Amino acid sequence: MKLILLGPPGAGKGTQAAMLVERFGIPQISTGDMLRTAVRDQTDMGKKAKAFMDAGGLVPDEVVVGIVRERLQNADCDSGFILDGFPRTVPQADALKQSLSALGKDLDAVVSLQVDTEALVERLTGRRSCGGCGKGYHIKFDPPVQDGICDSCSAVLIQRDDDQEATIRNRMDVYHEQTAPLEDYYRQDNLLRSVDGMADIAAVQDQILRTLQAD
Ligand code: ADP
Ligand code: AMP
Repeated sequence: MKLILLGPPGAGKGTQAAMLVERFGIPQISTGDMLRTAVRDQTDMGKKAKAFMDAGGLVPDEVVVGIVRERLQNADCDSGFILDGFPRTVPQADALKQSLSALGKDLDAVVSLQVDTEALVERLTGRRSCGGCGKGYHIKFDPPVQDGICDSCSAVLIQRDDDQEATIRNRMDVYHEQTAPLEDYYRQDNLLRSVDGMADIAAVQDQILRTLQAD
């Protein structure tokens, strides 16, 4: 299964990807996670990416295209992968096509999660993640058993710096300008599958699985 999860920030891509990883045993490739790790470790790439991320803008195409191209060559991608947060621009989508074609691979589907803007803001302001294992939560929609503590590893939950309302609005604008055109891009390739992302987490997962089985 070679899949892209498309959708605005907060649509549920990471949440759904984690469930698909469990089900299909294929890796989640999240450019956001990879970039945050690079920022935390203060690598050259992290230093380049930080200002863009803090402002809610996009990191330059050549940076993310390079990390995904490399990642796709790992043996764990042989039986499939879930791209989460990549591609985000038409040049990134073109570069992905090239990388996959060089590897003799084709995408199976692009699942686009549809969520209203106001719901996105509520999801992002309430999003928390585990500082230890990275597991995602929501203070209202997917809370941990014990407030502020990860169910899986008991580490403290943290809030992303870019999940502040001002930055969120900027990220939404960037999504509409630069990423939303990818819906048409993949529709033309007959890969686009729209899913109602407003439903609860389990119901969205069911819809995604049904869409994939229908292919
Ligand atoms: P993305 O990866 O698309 O930015 P996330 O998967 O991180 O989005 O989800 C954003 C927040 O919304 C998280 O706190 C998550 O727990 C919550 N969430 C995800 N899917 C749903 C849903 N279907 N209904 C309500 N909350 C959700
Ligand atoms: P995410 O975790 O997907 O919400 O991404 C967090 C931030 O990382 C984004 O706001 C961007 O600054 C950066 N980022 C993640 N993926 C990409 C990408 N494919 N292209 C450019 N920037 C990205």
